[in-house]
Amino acid sequence: MALRKLGEDLYLYPGSPSTMIKIFEGKAFLIDPGNGSKRHKDLRREVRKLGVEIKFLLATHGHADHISIVPRLEKPLFVHRFEFSVVESPLNRELLTFGSKAPKGFLVYQFEREVKAHAVFEWGEELFGLKTLKLNGHSPGMTGFLDEDNGVLYAGDSFFGERLIRNIGVPYLVDVQLFKNSITQLKNYVNDEFLIIPSHGRSVKGEEALEILDFNLKRIEETEEKILKFLKEPLSISELSYRLANDFGVNITPQALALNQVPIRAFIAELYNSGKIEAVVEGDLKWRRI
Ligand SMILES: [Zn+2]
Repeated sequence: MALRKLGEDLYLYPGSPSTMIKIFEGKAFLIDPGNGSKRHKDLRREVRKLGVEIKFLLATHGHADHISIVPRLEKPLFVHRFEFSVVESPLNRELLTFGSKAPKGFLVYQFEREVKAHAVFEWGEELFGLKTLKLNGHSPGMTGFLDEDNGVLYAGDSFFGERLIRNIGVPYLVDVQLFKNSITQLKNYVNDEFLIIPSHGRSVKGEEALEILDFNLKRIEETEEKILKFLKEPLSISELSYRLANDFGVNITPQALALNQVPIRAFIAELYNSGKIEAVVEGDLKWRRI
C-alpha cells in the first residue's frame, strides 16, 4: 500500500485503522500505528521513502487494533492521560471493550501484550505541529489530531463509515452524550472546510462528511427510540442486545451480541439518568420504560 499525500508534510497510509503521518522538523510522527504482522515494516519502508525517520508515535485511543504494532516500531508512544492505563494493560483494554476479562475470540481485535506509553498529553496541547482535540465518547480519552494549516482532522473512532455502522448495528460507544458532542464538534470542523479522516473508513469533507456524521447521529437516535419502544416490557441488557441486532438486521453472532452490550449499557445509563426508564428484578435485572 502506498502513501496518500494529504497536504504539505502530511500523509495517510490507508488501512483499518489508517495511519496518518506528519513530518515535523525533519522527523516523522505516526498517528494510530495500527495492527498486523507486517505493518511495522510497511510503515518504516513508506516513511523511509520520504527521506525521514520515525521519531514518535501518537494514538487516538488505546483500543488494541490502534496500538498493537507499537512494541515492534520501538519508538515512544504519546496518548491522552485517560487512555494511559488502557494502552499499558491488556486487561484494561478488555475491560473497556467487553466489561471484564474477555473470552478468547470475543473481541474484534485482541492483543494480550503490554504496550508502554512514554508520555501523556492534555486536550488542547500542540504536539509536533498537531493540535489535540477532545473527541471522546467512543473511549474515555479519544483524541482527534488537527493539522490546521492543511485543513485536516484525523478523527480516530469518533465517527464511523456507513457500511461499518450497518454491519454492527449500534455504534460502539461508552458514553452517549460525549459521543454526540464529538459529532457536533466534527460538524463544526466540516463547516470550516476541514477534511475529516476516520480510522476505519473513507476520508470525507463538505456535504459528504455532513451526511455521514448525520448518519452516525441518526443511528444513535434510532437506537434510543428502539430501546424505549422495546422497554414497554421489562428486558435485560442481553435481551435488548438481541432485539436491537435483529431490528437493525445485523449478522447475529455471540461476539456481535456481546460487543453490543457495552454501548447498550451506556444507552441504559443515559435513559435511566434522565428518568425515562427504571430498574426492576423479574427473574433477572431488567429495565422498563416509566
Ligand atoms: Zn476504537
